[in-house]
Amino acid sequence: MRKPRPSSFGMGNLYTYKTTVESRSQPGKFYTVSRTREGLWICHCWPFLRTHKECHHIKVAKARQDAAEKASKARSRPKGHK
Ligand SMILES: [Zn+2]
Repeated sequence: MRKPRPSSFGMGNLYTYKTTVESRSQPGKFYTVSRTREGLWICHCWPFLRTHKECHHIKVAKARQDAAEKASKARSRPKGHK
């Protein structure tokens, strides 16, 4: 009588992108930056949690995601023509 669990993928379903960015003021300290399916960026640093304004970490994460997207697009290009 067990129902299948559609959320078996876990937390990964909630975010489309997730990365950690090192703090500028505290080297060695990392903040997790996530992008939700709605396209919202969330950082776990205090400035963001207080003001909900785009912080340095989100900017880094955005640039990183942008680069990763470009890289994956370049990789998915059909090969064979040089
Ligand atoms: Zn932040």
